Amino acid sequence: MNFEEIRICGTVQGVGFRPTVYRLAKACGLCGDVRNDGQGVLVRVSGKQESIDEFVHKLQKECPPLAKINILTRKRYQGEFQFDDFVISGSVSDRVNTEIAPDAATCPQCKAETLDPFSRWYRYPFTNCTHCGPRLSIIRAIPYDRNNTSMNAFTMCSDCSREYKDVNNRRFHAQPAACHVCGPNAWLERSDGKPITSSMFSMLDDIDSVCTLLQKGEIVAIKGLGGFHLACDATNETVVQKLRQRKGRESKPFALMARDMAVVEEYCTPSIQERELLESPAAPIVLLEASSGDEGERGSGRITNIASWTAKKKLTLQAA
Ligand SMILES: [Zn+2]
Ligand SMILES: [Zn+2]
Repeated sequence: MNFEEIRICGTVQGVGFRPTVYRLAKACGLCGDVRNDGQGVLVRVSGKQESIDEFVHKLQKECPPLAKINILTRKRYQGEFQFDDFVISGSVSDRVNTEIAPDAATCPQCKAETLDPFSRWYRYPFTNCTHCGPRLSIIRAIPYDRNNTSMNAFTMCSDCSREYKDVNNRRFHAQPAACHVCGPNAWLERSDGKPITSSMFSMLDDIDSVCTLLQKGEIVAIKGLGGFHLACDATNETVVQKLRQRKGRESKPFALMARDMAVVEEYCTPSIQERELLESPAAPIVLLEASSGDEGERGSGRITNIASWTAKKKLTLQAA
């Protein structure tokens, strides 16, 4: 029997690293524990030498999508060892020197849940899991546990809590896990303070009302995790000009948002690399080459002013 202490540094907190360690340690027949601390993740294991070697090899190969291992060190474990199974231990707060993952774009599974009328996340704007959602924007202290995030104000309902505790669930220890019942809500307010009457016009909810306002050519300020996002229909020249005037931004391009790659391709010609960037968890703003509208040919210039485009199809893009 060998005893080892394995220290992993990098982006390893809040990214589903501990459940991966748990699953692999179990699969390799090891006993011990895994926990977050100020340095990253600490694993203590006992087992046959070849099983421990296999575990370490698999851990590096099967790292979860948002995780990044910078340093992995192994040493013989000298302390008292009392484990006859593998467990996930509580976090330890000490000297802080670990990386936190940045916010990640909604993953395909979460997106599917928000669009599924039979799912309890249907139309829930703050749907997230271990593979996606906010991280850095909500954190107040290390280690990355729910009580150290702004989500601490929201007590999980029994369904969310059950999933949070289930090591086989996609939301195991997903610190911002939330739903309609227990999480934050989105609501619409008028800038002049007058009451909102959307419920009288068979709108689904306040988000549905926002979609209608955008289509009508209004500018909407969307308050998100990291600040305000000014949005309008980028295919509506009048409203884009109004936004330019109000922001004092006469010609500098606005960033556009599109529903998916199919919409992007109606307007632009992304390369494979650009497409990968757009679809990555980081989902950064990417400068794309514009397709030239009428002739269906590839444009030669960079996008400089979306408002000068003629939209052939009705869609809502966001400019901010
Ligand atoms: Zn997700
Ligand atoms: Zn809930």
